[in-house]
Amino acid sequence: MAKILMVEDEADLAFPVKDWLSREQHLVELSDNGNDALGKLRVYKYDLIILDWMLPGTSGVDVCKRFRQNGGTTPILMLTAKTEITDKETGLDAGADDYLTKPFHLKELAARVRALLRRHVQSSDAILRMGDVVIDTLARKVMVAGAEIHLVPKEYSLLEFFMRHPNQVFSADALIDRVWASDTLASPDTIRTYIKLLRKKLDSDGKEPIIRTVHGVGYKLEH
Ligand code: CA
Repeated sequence: MAKILMVEDEADLAFPVKDWLSREQHLVELSDNGNDALGKLRVYKYDLIILDWMLPGTSGVDVCKRFRQNGGTTPILMLTAKTEITDKETGLDAGADDYLTKPFHLKELAARVRALLRRHVQSSDAILRMGDVVIDTLARKVMVAGAEIHLVPKEYSLLEFFMRHPNQVFSADALIDRVWASDTLASPDTIRTYIKLLRKKLDSDGKEPIIRTVHGVGYKLEH
C-alpha cells in the first residue's frame, strides 16, 4: 500500500485514477489545484505524487519545483496533454521522476506507479520476511509459520508498513500519518486496537510479540 496524492483538476480523470489505484490497495487523496496541493504537501507525507501539468493557479511544474526546493523527495509522476519533448524536459528538469502523456490507459499509469514505488521504497522486494512472518505484497497474502492468515485491509497495511521499516520506532501519530488517510478520525486508540488485533493473529503463545510497544514512545517491529 502506498499513500498517493493525485493533483488533477479534471474530475473525469481524477476519480477513475483514484478508483483504479484504490483497487490496487493504495490510499489516494485528491487535490484539484496547485495551491491546495502545496498546502497538503507541507502538512502530510505521501509515498508518491501524481501531478497534472496544467492546473488552475499554480501549475504542476511550479508545484514540482517548489516542492523540490523545499527539500521534498517524494517521487513525482507528471501528467500532461502536451507531447512536445521540450515540455518533457522541463518537467524532468523541474524535478519530476517520470512522465506520462494524456490520454493514457489506467493500466499504464498503474505500472508507472508500481515502478516508481519500487525504486523509492526502502525494501523493494515483493516478498517480505521477518522471522515466522512472510508477506507477499503483490498477492497481499500473509503467512505465519507456513500457514496463511487473514487480515483486514488496515491490519495488512499496518503490518506491511512495519515490515518495510523494521527496528524503527513509530509513535501512534506517525503511524496514523503514514498509513491512514489525512482526513482520518483515527486516534492513538485506533492504533492500539489494530496493534492488539495484529498481535493476536501474528504471535504464537509464549513468544515475544513481533510488534513491540516502546513505552512512552510508540511501536516497532523487532527484527
Ligand atoms: Ca489539468
